[in-house]
Amino acid sequence: MQTAPAIQTIRLVVSTSIGEVREDIASGQKSFFAGRQFAAGEVISSFAAGEVHTTPSYLTVQLGDNQHILLNPEYLQYINHSCNPNCFFDTTHLTVIALRDIACEEEFSFFYPSSEWDMSQPFVCNCRSQQCLGMIRGAKHLSAQQASAYQLNHYIVGKRNLEG
Ligand SMILES: [Zn+2]
Repeated sequence: MQTAPAIQTIRLVVSTSIGEVREDIASGQKSFFAGRQFAAGEVISSFAAGEVHTTPSYLTVQLGDNQHILLNPEYLQYINHSCNPNCFFDTTHLTVIALRDIACEEEFSFFYPSSEWDMSQPFVCNCRSQQCLGMIRGAKHLSAQQASAYQLNHYIVGKRNLEG
């Protein structure tokens, strides 16, 4: 008996204690999915600075002026942006926090401008949330009303206060 081969569209990249990084084979897009439930406020992961760079790249997280880190563990870099995020990278305590209850198999996401002041590679968001901001360029470019809707890092809040 012949069976048609299953067409594989998703590839497992890495399995971790908190979930799985999967790649959409057609687009090459990698995403990070929760491997269990997380409660609002729960620490999903802690992280440390890998390499520290003086300028941002699409892989770095900003800790301060001229201080942009590569994440350790590295797989946290696959938490993508959303304008309706379920995670927060706390760059004071170096932890990833659940902003709300997260279901098993839900994709982790965070709001890039919560840690990034002025991004090296702005992009047009297609998160499809109702409050999608469209062009994502970093916290420097948010209106006061946009910024007030999000939890932002101390560094970012301080910088907005200085420039406001
Ligand atoms: Zn969006």
